[in-house]
Amino acid sequence: MPVLDKLNTENAIALEDKYGAHNYHPLPVVLSKGEGVYVWDAEGKRYYDFLSAYSAVNQGHCHPKIINALVKQAQTLTLTSRAFYNDKLGKYEEFITNYFGYDKVLPMNTGAEAVETAIKLCRKWAYEKKGIPAQQAKIIVCDGNFHGRTTTIISFSNDEGARKNFGPYTEGFITIPYDDVAALESVLESDTTIAGFLVEPIQGEAGVYVPQGGYLAEAKALCEKHNVLFIADEVQTGIARTGKLLAVHHEDVQPDILILGKALSGGAYPVSAVLSNDDIMNVIKPGQHGSTFGGNPIAAAVAIAALEVVTDEHLAENAERLGAIFRKELNAYITGSSIVTQVRGKGLLNAIVINDTEDSSTAWDVCVAMMHNGLLAKPTHGNIIRFAPPLVMTEGQLRECIAIITDTLKQFEN
Ligand SMILES: *Cc1c(COP(=O)(O)O)cnc(C)c1O
Repeated sequence: MPVLDKLNTENAIALEDKYGAHNYHPLPVVLSKGEGVYVWDAEGKRYYDFLSAYSAVNQGHCHPKIINALVKQAQTLTLTSRAFYNDKLGKYEEFITNYFGYDKVLPMNTGAEAVETAIKLCRKWAYEKKGIPAQQAKIIVCDGNFHGRTTTIISFSNDEGARKNFGPYTEGFITIPYDDVAALESVLESDTTIAGFLVEPIQGEAGVYVPQGGYLAEAKALCEKHNVLFIADEVQTGIARTGKLLAVHHEDVQPDILILGKALSGGAYPVSAVLSNDDIMNVIKPGQHGSTFGGNPIAAAVAIAALEVVTDEHLAENAERLGAIFRKELNAYITGSSIVTQVRGKGLLNAIVINDTEDSSTAWDVCVAMMHNGLLAKPTHGNIIRFAPPLVMTEGQLRECIAIITDTLKQFEN
């Protein structure tokens, strides 16, 4: 049988199980097509996508403008490496720095690489500009963080599964509680070797934890006071997901270093980026950091198209408006529910908390039942289900989805 023959659901799952590393635990659905807010399985059944590839597909599946940019560039020039210039990168760099208001960008491919880049940039700045003694620079991170899967990043994770038996770990990180300005202040006042504070404006993977209003602005002010770089990981929260272009914009914060990924390509290609101003970015000189694929012409063309879609289709405004409807309707449902205790989020990054112990299978069972009812979502940690549909959704579609979600939850009420 030719390898690329179309498989049914059962065969496709069996192949992955046999030949692929078991580093994920997917819902038992095999997707073979996507368009806008919908995906279709191998048997042709249609679902609403309420995960959007962890918010990579904010612009909707196979957005024609993004796919056209991808195909056109793929037929012209794909990769030159940065040993030579290419005629797309400069245009993209001008476009994205204007779009987010920074002097410069450093292009990479995946979110984890961009976080690594930000860490290296921050440390180098700390030694060369702030004057921290060699080898002593530290970065403050938060409990419950998720910044990716590389060895350095998992070194400061407190997710046991992500960390255990992957040591020895990278040093130089101090963990404080999330959403705790006093804890940040106390470290900043007692330690003069702090280079940066790395934070997610909303903790997505941890279960969509939204910090209290003012947290990000106060944290930024404290960082400024202590000459510490405020580094925002907006890989999941950025690009209109939370109802603003960036989640930090809810508090009018401009991070010193901004990390983007996922929806920077609308899910069409791996594209990530680190943005900062010259006083920081200029510490990186030729040969000191890079990536063969980072800044390639396809990535450049795709990212411009993906960001244009965000503006042209008013995705931030749509996320803000639909998110309010989603939380209002779910809150109304919760009033009479014994199984859901909370809905929380911003824009179209939301989660419900299932009234059960962390290790129970209820959240998973609810997701499987929603799948049968035509909507795909997944538990994050334990008993929390994240809801993050593509931002191109209409109000009518959202209301249909709310009905699927609440009808499914009703099957689990006792
Ligand atoms: C997904 C994610 C990453 C890692 O991105 P990858 O492309 O999977 O490496 C980093 N930070 C946050 C907040 C994320 O959600």
